[in-house]
Amino acid sequence: MVLSKKEDADIAEVLFSAESIRSRVTELGALISTDFSDGQPLTVVGVATGAFIFLADLVRAIDVPMEVDVIRAESYGQGTESSGQVRVSSNMKVQVEGRHVLLVEDILDTGRTLAALVGHMVVKGANSVSVCVLLDKEERRIIPLVLPPSGKQYTGFQCPDQFVVGYGLDFDEKYRSLSYVGVLRSELYSS
Ligand code: 5GP
Ligand code: MG
Repeated sequence: MVLSKKEDADIAEVLFSAESIRSRVTELGALISTDFSDGQPLTVVGVATGAFIFLADLVRAIDVPMEVDVIRAESYGQGTESSGQVRVSSNMKVQVEGRHVLLVEDILDTGRTLAALVGHMVVKGANSVSVCVLLDKEERRIIPLVLPPSGKQYTGFQCPDQFVVGYGLDFDEKYRSLSYVGVLRSELYSS
């Protein structure tokens, strides 16, 4: 196991250690396994790219037969913060019609991405839509997360309003492979 990496040098503070993430993922997996034990088909859909490590760990902690896929969503006019519109830029391969869908996302921030993806799953005919996020920056919410009836929300950790990287989360496509979540040194992105 890699205990230290070159990218560690760019991290100001570790917020969620690999150990704390591991035990929280185990708890979430147990909760989800109980909630989805009704025998109805489950499809777990990770939001690429940021959720890829969380998705990989979470599905191994869930003991229910499932299909696994990924989806990609992009904001229009990113950087300008103009419209805040989100579109699905890469769709799933599997059909979700008549199935329970569990969307797995790295971080819930303004809420725009998940609002769009929940709507997308409803349009695709999902039987229920639930959401599991590793991190929730609640104070940043602009669009409240509204789930259709019988949808459930799972949260790993409440996250302070700081820019975080690691465990799948990137800055400029870097730091995704760190096994913990940390705050990036501000001089590296506020230049
Ligand atoms: P939302 O649509 O909820 O505003 O945005 C969610 C997306 O914003 C996340 O999937 C992630 O890509 C990005 N994001 C929000 N906060 C952070 C952060 O602190 N660090 C990183 N790396 N990405 C973030
Ligand atoms: Mg994301």
